[in-house]
Amino acid sequence: MEDGKNLVVLTHGGAGSDPAHADGTAIAGQLCMMDLQTGVPTIDAACQAVATLEDDGRFNAGIGSHKRSDDSVQMDASCMDSSGTFGAVATLEGFKNPVHVARIVSQSEYKMLAGRGANEFAANQDCQTLSPDQLKGSGADFSATDTVGCVVRSGDEFACALSTGGIDQAIPGRVGDVPLIGCGLYAGPEGAVAATGDGEAIAMQVTALRVYQLIEQGMDPKAIVPTVIGWFKETTAFGIIVVSKTGFAGGANRGMAWTASEMMV
Ligand code: ASP
Repeated sequence: MEDGKNLVVLTHGGAGSDPAHADGTAIAGQLCMMDLQTGVPTIDAACQAVATLEDDGRFNAGIGSHKRSDDSVQMDASCMDSSGTFGAVATLEGFKNPVHVARIVSQSEYKMLAGRGANEFAANQDCQTLSPDQLKGSGADFSATDTVGCVVRSGDEFACALSTGGIDQAIPGRVGDVPLIGCGLYAGPEGAVAATGDGEAIAMQVTALRVYQLIEQGMDPKAIVPTVIGWFKETTAFGIIVVSKTGFAGGANRGMAWTASEMMV
């Protein structure tokens, strides 16, 4: 690696998650930072952080995914990097790390796979399955949202990844912002953005792309975060993490477990 490369990792456990669970986002961030230090591509490092959060069990993703109104568990996940790689899955069922499936989609001829086709694709790729007894996300003390996300910088390269079980008790087939490019996430040569909260509201604001445009206009992430939180009603759960060449920031209009770390190598 060349001297003076700036490494930055931000991880979140979702708008509405318990800030006391920031130990989980910190561990995911540390593993991601170690990946970056050893030269793992930014998108794989971001996906690895999100997979760690999917395996935590306290967040609404992976083994912590909330149930739908019919008791099914359907998960959405996505990843993107500044070289234009993007992949996503929607309403995936029965796989432990949807973000890994999204990453494999990003390496295929497709950008997003949903439902039965996504399940068949994941099965054909030998992705690790998830049995009903591994699920931990049905407890009544869970917040309605709590998805997980990561944004990463390694020098001039950026990436982001997201994963969610969706909104608690939503009907089967409901898809939020997470797999929608420019809504839940966006990465480009100037930075990376990952949103969390009410997926319908986030999608209707085309949130992540518009945040990225603020970065392109030269706005600092520390100013962007409160500005973007202001786009949403206080009753609408919303949170965001942002990294650019000028800095990084995160925040939400309610509690959120999130952590950030920076290192020069
Ligand atoms: N945005 C996710 C969704 O609507 C939920 C969340 O962020 O907690 O599916």
